[in-house]
Amino acid sequence: MSTDPEREDNGRPLAPGLYLVATPIGNLEDITLRALRVLRSVDRIACEDTRQTQKLLNHFGIHTPTVSYHMHNEAGRAAELTAELKAGARIAVVSDAGTPGIADPGGQIAAAAIAASVPVFPVPGANAAISALIASGIAGAGEAPERFTFHGFLPAKEGQRKTALEALTRDGGTQVFYEAPHRILDTLADVAAIFGAAQHVVVARELTKLHEEFLRGPVSEVRATLAGRASVRGEIVLLFAL
Ligand code: SAM
Repeated sequence: MSTDPEREDNGRPLAPGLYLVATPIGNLEDITLRALRVLRSVDRIACEDTRQTQKLLNHFGIHTPTVSYHMHNEAGRAAELTAELKAGARIAVVSDAGTPGIADPGGQIAAAAIAASVPVFPVPGANAAISALIASGIAGAGEAPERFTFHGFLPAKEGQRKTALEALTRDGGTQVFYEAPHRILDTLADVAAIFGAAQHVVVARELTKLHEEFLRGPVSEVRATLAGRASVRGEIVLLFAL
């Protein structure tokens, strides 16, 4: 735990700047004390989806004004918020869930703020990729430094997805992907076709939620288990080592 007095609250007002604040990926207990303080204290919260974030803010009794900041208005809104930041505002950015800027908006405004010499503060917390990785069992203890590559989402189109998978090289460490539930069976079929039916994979589903689940084993078996269900639902991280 940090004992650096410069980093402690000490009752002081929050410094002006941009705060990239991680929020839970399911379990609301995963919000951090610092995230709550920052979200309470900033002038505005820029949200991927204001309605989604409002639920979180209501839960914690936070009344800070929100503004939308998503894929479709990211560039324009980044310029607007940067002008406010330059004038001394304190603005938080949150995504719908997890860490902003990781397969989510946040990167453009961070870059714009840095270019405008505005301080940018990470407020770390939940992230699906790291949560899945640490409980995957793929990299055993004592194998540090562990190498992993985070790819975000694979392309939705079959041809492009196969090309992306084929481009992965053996001995490349642990590969981490986000995947949609309606595409996971196709993706696992591609993994089996390219790397063999015995390729060990981990499917991490609904992390930190009531129905959290890890499926670990040869890709053919994991796929068969999922294919045997009436439907595959929920949020998914796919991992395998090459
Ligand atoms: N910024 C987020 C983060 O820090 O993890 C990721 C946002 S991305 C748009 C959403 C994807 O992340 C989902 O489609 C899923 O692949 C993954 N994800 C998010 N929450 C998850 C959870 N609770 N369990 C498993 N995967 C999750």
